Amino acid sequence: MFNDEDLKGLRIEGDQCIIGGACIANDLLASKELCAHFPNIEKHLLLVSSTPIRNMGTIAGNFVNASPIGDLTVFFLALDGTITLKGKSERGLKLRDLYKGYKQLDKSTDEIVTSVRFTLPGKSTRFHFEKVSKRTYLDIASVNSAIRLELDGDMIREAHVSAGGVAPIPKYLSNTSAFLAGKSISNDTVRAAIKVMNDEIAPISDARGTADYKRLLLRQLFFAHFMELFPERFTLKELVA
Ligand SMILES: Cc1cc2nc3c(=O)[nH]c(=O)nc-3n(C[C@H](O)[C@H](O)[C@H](O)COP(=O)(O)OP(=O)(O)OC[C@H]3O[C@@H](n4cnc5c(N)ncnc54)[C@H](O)[C@@H]3O)c2cc1C
Repeated sequence: MFNDEDLKGLRIEGDQCIIGGACIANDLLASKELCAHFPNIEKHLLLVSSTPIRNMGTIAGNFVNASPIGDLTVFFLALDGTITLKGKSERGLKLRDLYKGYKQLDKSTDEIVTSVRFTLPGKSTRFHFEKVSKRTYLDIASVNSAIRLELDGDMIREAHVSAGGVAPIPKYLSNTSAFLAGKSISNDTVRAAIKVMNDEIAPISDARGTADYKRLLLRQLFFAHFMELFPERFTLKELVA
């Protein structure tokens, strides 16, 4: 796959960004257009593995590997990405619908992921990615999370939230995302969303921490999303009060 030229390249068509399945993390960083749409992408992607892995690991490999803590998967889940699968025929599938259970995919063995497509952020879009690992760099996540918000003034018109390390699959938090839509940006909204979030995750205790610890981490990452996206409105002190 890595050497398949048909799966390489990143292009922008109108408001759509289409990234070949064999693109690597460093291809994203090399794209001036993408970096213009995601001003913090370097900060985000430097948290993903290491330079050699960012030069080798493909985006589609990250999706199909189906690790519950796949960083790029969590990133593109929150972008509400759609993948194209090519086997005997071609079909589109929301990335969030690829995952059916631990390492179980809505994908036949002859299908390859040729690309992922998503709508580029607009003026009213806010996007953020967070990752916690035992070491800040060069480590896999204990818990990671990403969020995409479409704003209408003070209201959240649409939300897409994802999290890794809290379920058997890289998780699109559909209930939390639906809950946030139509809400105002406030401490009450964020705190209420945490309750919804806690009902739709099922972390397990393992080498990276206990289930309770991972719940706590995800709560902190969720707070961090809002504190980073709206620094003038949120403080940790008020959020945890
Ligand atoms: C030292 C090390 C550190 C790592 N750190 C991180 C990290 O911090 N964060 C993280 O998310 N991951 C990390 N990884 C995991 C891994 O590098 C990534 O998941 C990477 O994106 C996998 O891409 P690959 O092309 O190497 O896939 P492979 O490992 O070659 O493939 C994974 C699976 O996907 C299938 N596949 C590959 N391409 C396609 C395609 N186009 N269509 C259909 N199926 C396909 C393969 O058949 C295989 O089943 C790390 C790995 C290593 C070795």
